[in-house]
Amino acid sequence: MSDRCFACHNSATTREHVPPLCLFPETKDTEGGRNLRQNLITVPACADHNLAKSTDDEYFRWVVSTNLTANCVGTWQAHTKVARAHGRRPALGQAILEGAKDVTVVDSRTGSEYPTAETPLDSARVTRVLDLVALGIYRHHFDESWSGTVRVHPDFIVDIGPEWTTDVDVKRIVLFEAADRLFAPETKRGDNPDVFWYQVHESRMPDQCLMRLAFYSGCTATALFSRSG
Ligand SMILES: [Zn+2]
Repeated sequence: MSDRCFACHNSATTREHVPPLCLFPETKDTEGGRNLRQNLITVPACADHNLAKSTDDEYFRWVVSTNLTANCVGTWQAHTKVARAHGRRPALGQAILEGAKDVTVVDSRTGSEYPTAETPLDSARVTRVLDLVALGIYRHHFDESWSGTVRVHPDFIVDIGPEWTTDVDVKRIVLFEAADRLFAPETKRGDNPDVFWYQVHESRMPDQCLMRLAFYSGCTATALFSRSG
C-alpha cells in the first residue's frame, strides 16, 4: 500500500508535499526569520501527480496568499515569493490580473468594509489543487488512500455571477458557521499552523469522512469524502 500514489493508486515513484511546498515560505521570506517548513507532510505519488500540477500550485498560492482572509504569513508570502514569481513570468501575473476591478467587500457578519480587487477566478484549477490536497491529507492521516469521491468546498471564494444575490451569501455563511461548530472539538493538526492546518471529523457512517483544511489561517475549506454507488 505504501508505494501506491495517493491520488490514482498507480505505482509511486516519488513523494509529493501536501499541501504544495510552495505555500510554505522559505525562512528568508518570513518576518523575523521563522522556520515555517517544520515536519512538512509528504505522501507517495506517481510522476503525474507530482510534476504535472506545479503551475496549478503557483496559481493556488496566488489565490490563497492574496485572499482577504489570509493571515500576515500569507500576505508576506504574496509580497515576496509571489511578487518575484510574477516578475520572472509576467504572463502569469497578467493572466491573473486581467479583468480585475476595484470593489469594496462588506463582511456580512461584522459590517466591516474592505477595499480590494475582484479578479476572475479559474475555479477549476483551484478545485484541482484542493481535491489533491484533501486526498493527500487523507492518505497521510489514515495511512491509506481514499478510493471514493471527494468534494471540497472552499469558504474563501465567492462566486459573484449574474445570479448572485444576498441569499447566496447568507447560505454560505450558514454553512461556514455549521462547519465551525462541527469541527470545534477536533484537534488542529500540522506543525506549521500559520501556513496550513487540518481537522478530521470521523462520521458515524463508515462511508463518509469530513475534513477541514485551512491555508494561512483564514482560507478554510471543507472536504467531504464519500463512497457512494
Ligand atoms: Zn498518481
